[in-house]
Formats: sequence, C-alpha cells, structure tokens
Amino acid sequence: MTFSVHGQAVSRGIAIGRAVLVASSRVDVAHYFVSPEQIESEIERLRQARNAVVEEIGRVQHSLHEFDGKDAHHELSALLDVHLMLLQDEQLTSGVKHWIVERHYNAEWALTTQLEIIARQFDEMEDPYLRERKADLEQVVERMLRQMRGVASPVAAPVPARRDAQDLLLDETVDVPLVLVAHDLSPADMLQFKQSVFAGFVTDVGGKTSHTAIVARSMDIAAVVGARSASQLIQQDDWVIIDGDAGLVVVDPSPIVLAEYGYKQRQGDLERERLSRLRNTPAVTLDGERIELLANIEQPSDAAAALAAGAVGVGLFRSEFLFMGRSGRLPDEEEQYQAYREAVEGMHGLPVTIRTVDVGADKPLDRALRPDSHLNPALGLRAIRWSLAEPAMFLCQLRAILRAAAHGQVHMLIPMLAHASEIRQTLALLDKAREQLDAAGVVYGPVKIGAMIEVPAAALAVGLFLSHFDFLSIGTNDLIQYTLAIDRVDEAVAHLYDPLHPAVLQLLARTIAEGEACGKPVTVCGEMAGDVGMTRLLLGLGLRSFSMHPSQLLAVKQQILRSDTRKLTEWATRVLASDEPAGLITDA
Ligand code: PEP
Ligand code: MG
Repeated sequence: MTFSVHGQAVSRGIAIGRAVLVASSRVDVAHYFVSPEQIESEIERLRQARNAVVEEIGRVQHSLHEFDGKDAHHELSALLDVHLMLLQDEQLTSGVKHWIVERHYNAEWALTTQLEIIARQFDEMEDPYLRERKADLEQVVERMLRQMRGVASPVAAPVPARRDAQDLLLDETVDVPLVLVAHDLSPADMLQFKQSVFAGFVTDVGGKTSHTAIVARSMDIAAVVGARSASQLIQQDDWVIIDGDAGLVVVDPSPIVLAEYGYKQRQGDLERERLSRLRNTPAVTLDGERIELLANIEQPSDAAAALAAGAVGVGLFRSEFLFMGRSGRLPDEEEQYQAYREAVEGMHGLPVTIRTVDVGADKPLDRALRPDSHLNPALGLRAIRWSLAEPAMFLCQLRAILRAAAHGQVHMLIPMLAHASEIRQTLALLDKAREQLDAAGVVYGPVKIGAMIEVPAAALAVGLFLSHFDFLSIGTNDLIQYTLAIDRVDEAVAHLYDPLHPAVLQLLARTIAEGEACGKPVTVCGEMAGDVGMTRLLLGLGLRSFSMHPSQLLAVKQQILRSDTRKLTEWATRVLASDEPAGLITDA
C-alpha cells in the first residue's frame, strides 16, 4: 500500500530505490556489493564467523561448569543455550544467505539487514519473554560481526547505475539502486557513506542545517531528514521514492507515481546538464559586479568537486571531519598537515580557507558521545571554546595549518568567537605556534586570519572583529540558530528556523555593511549562501562573496548572471524595513 512520510527537504533531486534499514548503532558496518564469484567466499566468511562464535560460547559454558560445578550459573548457561539456538536459527541463516546470493550484499551488511527484519518481528510479539529475546539476537549478531572484522573481505564492487523508473518495480535483479533509512546518522557516519552504494538517505531526526543534512547536501544525492517515524514505517526492501526538493518520502509507490517521479528525475538531470555549461562563465551581474563563488568542503578530496564546479577557491574547509569518529585518537600534526596540504595542492593555487576544529553540539568527536548526552550541547564547549580549553591540541592544528600555507594560499578561519578574550587568546596561540615552528626550523607560510560571525553577540560587536581580523565569514546556520533560539538539529522546531526573520536580516546586513566600510572582505558560508531563493537578497544586502557546496554553485551563479545589483539594493532596503520580509522575497 502506498503511503508517504514528510520531513525536511535537504538536497536537490529524486532517488528511487529499495530501502535498506540500518540501526543507528550499526552504521559503521561495511556496505558494499560482492561480485558473483565472491558469493561463495562471502558465505564462507559468515560460516566461519558463526562457527567461531559457537566455539566461543562453548568455551564460556565449559568454564562455567568447571568453575562452579554443574548446577551453578544455571541461568547464564541457559541464556548461552538460547544464543546457540539463535545462531542456528533457520530464519537468520537462510535470510542472510538470501541477501548475499540474491542481492550480492557483503556478509556484514546481509547479517545486519536480516537482523533488522527479525528484530521487528520480536518487537511485535505479545509475549514479553519472547520480546526480550531481541536483545539476545543482537548480542549474537554483534559477536559474529566482531569475528568477521578479523577476516579479510573482498573489495567493494562499483555503485549501481541509476535505472529507468518504469523498469524498477519489475526488477528483481541485484542491480537496483538502494536508499538508506535510519533513525539517526551522525555527520561522521554520513561522511563514511560518501563513497557508498546508496542513492539517497532518509532519517527520522535532524533539521535542515544539521551537519548530517549538510554532509548529505555535499554528496549531492536526494535526502530527507526529520521524517520522524520513517524508520519504523518503512520495511526492509520496500520500494521508496525520496523527493529531496519537497522533503517527501513515498513508500511502495504505484506505477503511475513511479512514472511521474521518473519524469521529474530526468528533468533534474537535464537541468544539471544545462547548468554545467556555466562552469567557466565568470560570475558577474548584469551591472558588472564581480561575485566571488567559493566552495565548502569536508575532506581534502572534495577539492576536485570544487574545481569541477568552477569555484574560485575554498571558502570553508570544515576541518573537524578529520577529528570525528576516531575513538578518541585525534589526528597528529603530521596527519593534519598532509590533509591540509592535499586540499591546498588540490586547488592548484586558488585560496583555501581552513576553519579550525569546530566539534561539539551535533558534531561529537566520537560516535559514542551523542550530543544528547549533554544538557545543552549547542551552548556548550564547542568550536573555539573547546580549542582554547585544549591548547596543546589547538597548537598542533595551528602549526599544521601554518605548514600547509607553505604550499599555497591559505586563510585560517576561527569558529564561534564571541568575546574579546577569545580573540586575544587565539591570536596569542597563533603567535606561539609560529614561534614553535621557528624554534624547530620548520618551514611555514603566511596566512590571512578570519573570524566566523555566527553568534549574535559577534554580529552586534562586529567592530571588535574587524579590528583584529583580515576578513569575516558569516555562518548563517549558527547565526540563525542562536538568534532565534532554536536548535538546528531538532526537527520539532524546524518550522521556526527562519533565515528571513527580521532580526537575522538586520544582523546580516549590519555585518556586511560594516565589513564593506572597513574595506575587509565578508563572505557568507552558511547554507543560506547556496540557497538560490536567497541569492538576490544577499546581493541586495551588499554581499559579494558566497561559499557553498560545489553542487549548489552553478545554480547560484545562474541567479547572479540574471541579477542587477542596483535594483536589488533598493529592494533589499524595503525587505529590511519589513516586519514580514518573506512576503517581499518573490517581488524582486
Ligand atoms: C554556519 O554555522 O553557518 C557554518 C558555516 O558552520 P557549521 O554549519 O559548520 O556550524
Ligand atoms: Mg557554525
């Protein structure tokens, strides 16, 4: 039966595929396809893992008997019997084989897929004793996954090509697109899926500018977040359409709906093809204003996408992605230096703005440290606050960035500053990093240093920042979150996240105008910069530098080429004076 689920529209485009449900705790399980020749060895890996777990349990049972006599620990022994039984369970073993043989999933993926199916059946059981057996099944699977980690697995097969929508319902071969459905994915998890087999994502939680959504957008695939109970309603292997423009997920679509979305998908492809012709066109408005279009990147290898989109530099390299999901072991100076250098060299002489680490809130250092483990993570020890609290870590990053600057143009950007004392401490540490490199005789280069304006206090005291920094970059994602007091990650208040709120526009306008008056560059690097609905307003407010995901750049350029800033300035003044600016936005 067809039904739809609504969420937050995250990224352009349509994805059509079969649902792969992944439990949030198991997103780090590898997902790839094996070739037909590898199927037997994949089943063998599974068999070996199961046998190893059977032996492991046998050893534990044996030691229990040895240690305490036959009747002691009876309960534990009975539980282990249940585990042994589950390991032999026909539904588990034949189900896992099905995913490997019919769909060519790798063994770990097949195992967790089947686990999700059986776990749901347990959830629906009336009998509380049987319901609790779900935890046993999860433990058994966890043991098998642990065993398999030690056994070499074959290499990943290529990502499946997109198929024509009309063929999809009939198609039962392995070569079908897949979409990932999860309750929650951390930004680091999302990054892990960057080179994966999935054509789209749906998550129950998350707001439009949560970092999970931001990474999905950078991948340029259809995604919907904040779809509430989607992961409960959608079943493993259901056909799903993800409409990333409308924030809609259609489950089990009829052939007519499928055909309609197939048509939309083709229209989207044609539009992209058309936009790609603008790649080498300079971003100049009708009245001759040259606009700087920069790229936001998360990894050094993203530099290639930035160049391909025609970006004239990187306006925001979110360095924190080097730090996340590493179980507490942070990247050392050498590793960071190599990563920054790769990005700098990848941009072939164009400037690269490296933001110092911005962990915390919805970007926890470690997957295990979920943001909700803190009372109010967005207001806590994140970004520059954390860096200043960990001076050795921060110095290490500053040295790595300075060293990378010997290989090209590097700008350094400091996130979430609000206080004069933070500015002083940051600049003092930067001096110290230079001294340390001098003392060690290590080569480094010059950097321009900029401040992110993402806290209302910073926007209101912008003069303080202009007097200390070479440039400013407005982080509208946080500026909006902190001005309107709504958590950007919380889908329950997503409807209040309003870039056009008069207070937000006043702060933006003020920052841009004061930067201009001081002759210092101001960029917007939040998601607003890549939103074509905002391009003309930002131009009207005087913005001349935009930084966004490469996938958004050409559509924004198209808007710029059609704009006349002289007309937009007057209109933007009216928008700024309005109590309800949204009503005026379509008038330009
Ligand atoms: C912002 O806040 O707008 C920004 C660019 O930084 P991040 O989204 O990484 O917090
Ligand atoms: Mg921010």
